[in-house]
Amino acid sequence: LLHAAHEARDVPLRTTTVDNQRVMVQANINLINDVTPATQYNAEGVGLYRSEFPFIIRNHFPSEEEQYLIYQRILEPMKDHEVVLRTLDVGGDKQLSHLSDIEPDPNPFLGFRGIRFSFGHEDVFREQLRAMVRAGHRRKLGILFPMISSLDELLKAREVLSEVLQELADEGIQHNPAPRVGAMIEVPSAVDLVSELAACTDFLSIGTNDLVMYLLAADRTNERVQDMHKAHHPAVLRALKRIADGVGNRISTVSVCGGAGADPWMIPFLLGIGIRKFSVEPRQIPVVKDLISKMTIRESRRLVSKLLSMKTVAEVESYLGTS
Ligand code: PEP
Ligand code: MG
Repeated sequence: LLHAAHEARDVPLRTTTVDNQRVMVQANINLINDVTPATQYNAEGVGLYRSEFPFIIRNHFPSEEEQYLIYQRILEPMKDHEVVLRTLDVGGDKQLSHLSDIEPDPNPFLGFRGIRFSFGHEDVFREQLRAMVRAGHRRKLGILFPMISSLDELLKAREVLSEVLQELADEGIQHNPAPRVGAMIEVPSAVDLVSELAACTDFLSIGTNDLVMYLLAADRTNERVQDMHKAHHPAVLRALKRIADGVGNRISTVSVCGGAGADPWMIPFLLGIGIRKFSVEPRQIPVVKDLISKMTIRESRRLVSKLLSMKTVAEVESYLGTS
């Protein structure tokens, strides 16, 4: 992990590569407290707000009003920048203590997680969407659905969102009538459907933490297999390339919000396949911006063809370690 004791005033707002390509660096927000370092380090918005934390710390679902106030505290300081609020991604490693007794999941990462949970608790899902679009009134709001594994799920989620927007309009409640809608690409099946998912969304966000886990069958929380959890594994590199190829000229709307976006070994590869948007932990922003501003797209494209020809992790590591 990258951490830097940079002075906030040293961190530029705009980031460009040596050969003048604009790259956006946004913040991942877990807690309200993360908003301050995000603004201090000049994040160009929030690429991922993980909305599960207010749900995890309570022993009940937070009300629409409680959520509305929380989301406002993220949107407000970001002013005109884009803010992406992700709907609930509980399940997996983020269990709700008040539900796990009633709904035990034998294999949580393959179970009732992310969008599946939201569909299973549709009233909770609707309340969350209402709170999000209300807080996004007159703001650049993106709504992101986690753990999308089929186009069907995306269409269903969009349908619920449309109903919620209609409801709020009927009730005459102030809200953002046209939030941008996005899907996480973090389940291997979504990689193969990426062009269809891109066609039905305004943006996509690659969650490398889960994507690596599911591609390599290596639990991201299990220390014994941490050594296997590598975004520079040849199969992961090829999957990332397939995502970029699959979205074609919509690549500018794709961001990387998983840990690979702050990994110095991965940043050049991601730039090389066309990624121009990174969302990273606030404290990683200075180093990520600094790294990007020292790179050229030309070199990173060369790196991509080199790495994609490699067959083993060892080969990739020895190349990245020495080049
Ligand atoms: C990811 O899976 O890479 C991601 C950004 O989402 P989370 O870490 O919240 O699962
Ligand atoms: Mg994830």
